[in-house]
Amino acid sequence: MKKQYAQLSSEYRLLLGPGPVEVSPRVLSAMSHPLYGHLDPNFFEIANESMELLRYVFQTKNALTLPMSGTGSAGMETVMVNLIEPGDKVIICVCGVFGERLRDAAGRFGAKVVSVEASMGEAIDPEKVREAFKAHKDIKLVAIVHAETSTGVKQPLEKISEIAKEYNALFVVDAVTSLGGVELKIDEWGIDACYSGTQKALSCPPGLSPVTFNDKAVEVIGNRKTKVSSWYFDLNMIKNYWGQERLYHHTAPINMVYGLREALLMVYEEGLTARFARHQLNSDAFVAGIEAMGLSMTVKNKEHRLPTLNAVNIPDGVNDALVRSFLLTKYGIEIGGGLGDFKGKAWRVGLMGESSKRNNVIQLLAALSDALLDQKFKVSVGQGIEAALAVYNGR
Ligand SMILES: *Cc1c(COP(=O)(O)O)cnc(C)c1O
Repeated sequence: MKKQYAQLSSEYRLLLGPGPVEVSPRVLSAMSHPLYGHLDPNFFEIANESMELLRYVFQTKNALTLPMSGTGSAGMETVMVNLIEPGDKVIICVCGVFGERLRDAAGRFGAKVVSVEASMGEAIDPEKVREAFKAHKDIKLVAIVHAETSTGVKQPLEKISEIAKEYNALFVVDAVTSLGGVELKIDEWGIDACYSGTQKALSCPPGLSPVTFNDKAVEVIGNRKTKVSSWYFDLNMIKNYWGQERLYHHTAPINMVYGLREALLMVYEEGLTARFARHQLNSDAFVAGIEAMGLSMTVKNKEHRLPTLNAVNIPDGVNDALVRSFLLTKYGIEIGGGLGDFKGKAWRVGLMGESSKRNNVIQLLAALSDALLDQKFKVSVGQGIEAALAVYNGR
């Protein structure tokens, strides 16, 4: 008797969590296209277009803009391991789990880390970054998370970028949950290096991590005194595969690149301005619905709320796990639980890429009301949906 292995089932799922999110059939279909070899000129045409389209979404002219193999964390490691040499002093801004990861990575690569912190649910105060520069000489770089997926905070970047420049330090940004969903201007905002991921606002399966480096960052990498301590993520070698030389380094994940190019084409066809407006509108409608239901958002300052990741406070007496399993079993809807300090305290609703749609917002507000009523928590389904519709209808 042969063992019976699980079948991939096509049970209905609507992915409204922190990522992965919904992926267009157009992207999935591109990924199932027969393979070209990773050194085939036909593949390089697709690869080149994916780099060109990445420059469009990053709003940059940076030549060194490419998708690293691996998920968003691979992009984080690429940026940190290439820019940091043992003993370098760096400032890491931490106001959630992904800032903590950056700090952990910087330490592992031998940096002396100065932390600038904010409470969970709040953004980093630029003045605190300035104080850190005053207190510590010779800071090489400042790293910060643009969209803190663990708390739903959108971090304003321009002021901190200016301060980094005053002190001649590189400005490094984690844009995993903002690229393609929230305004992000690499060149205009003076960002020297940035990384993202495919399974968040770009609406692609997980597997690649877009990165971009300006000339200043490339020069810093070129002038290193020590070898990059990771072989796989060493940009000095990787750039010769993605550049004119086409030198083999490691086999490019061919079908992931097909998928990414297709997802980026969809961003290009929609246009960045329209895409950001769509994300903001769906988030505004969702928040209006949540507040009309008597719930509250985790991020108090409206200016600092991310449209891509909407964190909702879990009301007292409501069981987090039961609500999420109710949504999954009765509606096929996945939302995220809290991370770090917010475990059991917040739900994380991802409205990004293909998931950021009016029908998803209305469906989730209705399903969440049902789940809360099941917990004997009183909400008015009607009021929540009416408030969301009022946003859509401009009332
Ligand atoms: C998801 C995420 C990451 C990590 O990406 P993976 O694809 O899970 O490796 C890093 N930073 C932020 C802000 C994220 O949301």
